[in-house]
Amino acid sequence: MKTELRHYTVAKVLAGFVYNEFEGKGLFGLAGDLVIQPEYQRHYIYGDGKHDVAVIDSLLKGYPLGLIYFVNTNSDVGAQLEVLDGQQRITSVGRFVTGKFAIKVAGKHQTFSSLPVEKQQLILDSELLVYVCAGVEAEIKEWFQTINMVGVPLNAQELRNAIYSGPFVTAAKAEFSRSNNALQQKWAAYVKGVVNRQEVLAVALDWVASGHGQSIDAYMAAHRHDTSIAELQTYFTSVIDWIDSVFIASPDKAMQGLDWDRLYRTYHHKAYNPATVDADVQALLSDLAVTNKRGIYEYVLAGKTNPQLLDVRIFSAATKREAYARQTAAAKPADKSNCPLCAAGTNNNATRIYALKEMEADHVTAWSKGGATMLDNCEMLCVPHNRSKGNR
Ligand SMILES: [Zn+2]
Repeated sequence: MKTELRHYTVAKVLAGFVYNEFEGKGLFGLAGDLVIQPEYQRHYIYGDGKHDVAVIDSLLKGYPLGLIYFVNTNSDVGAQLEVLDGQQRITSVGRFVTGKFAIKVAGKHQTFSSLPVEKQQLILDSELLVYVCAGVEAEIKEWFQTINMVGVPLNAQELRNAIYSGPFVTAAKAEFSRSNNALQQKWAAYVKGVVNRQEVLAVALDWVASGHGQSIDAYMAAHRHDTSIAELQTYFTSVIDWIDSVFIASPDKAMQGLDWDRLYRTYHHKAYNPATVDADVQALLSDLAVTNKRGIYEYVLAGKTNPQLLDVRIFSAATKREAYARQTAAAKPADKSNCPLCAAGTNNNATRIYALKEMEADHVTAWSKGGATMLDNCEMLCVPHNRSKGNR
């Protein structure tokens, strides 16, 4: 790979700068000869009033912005150069110069045009140190991975977008990586991730890829040159729509980031009554004994047979009735309390027979020690005794 060091002024790089608010991208520079944000790059993430302001502060203090890398695509048509590294910095300067945000100077908000002319000139004349490199795609991408290990590193999906760049990534990002996609709000109830850091896209890819027994990488490699993302889109939508159809209440935050793909694959062939499901979910969500709220959804989907998902032991009403009947039947003829702890005591309660509603179920062998939720591990205690035992 060949590299060449060039010096550009900010003014030259920003000639013809366009910022696309909708896509969150700085588009072009060098009078159309530079693509600031190639398709595989992350969206603009410096627009937070800190990173972007820091870039302008540096320029005003005469500090260098660090090395910037362009790649020479040797393209016959359109732009020759693409920003390989430095698009966040260039976009920040471009947005400032075109009046998209203000900075504070001596406590006052200043836009580019309200700065004194000499300050404006200082920014425009600032020199950017640019390595222009040329080489085959594989070399450039390998290098791209290396240089991104410094600074704000690309996350796994941002790297994959770079490695498998092409029409598939472009189409997938248009659907899954734009915060202003109205569907994102709905998806966010179930999918966890920062949209413009490609984390929602990563989830969508993971879901569809796992259906083929593939990794995200393998799936992206196989579909790299596809112009359609129909399968990705259809599968993701199927999962989301299924969740919506089974769980009808407005989503609890416990639903966010569950492995919905696995739940969908396991349970979507089963029929559910959404009203019943909702009643179960709401009851469990408000049940203080359920310590793992995130387990509620699978617990209900699976037919409420596996309380381990809830990190709590729940004895069924039938089990409690049966344990109560057994203890009471044994206690009465012996003239002892049907609460074994009261029966072992010496006060008036030693012979007291409690009603079922005055008792609670306890585990003879604690749940945390592997005790089963079955009749022979169920012991009914009077409420005061059960509560005084606390969480064992
Ligand atoms: Zn008792």
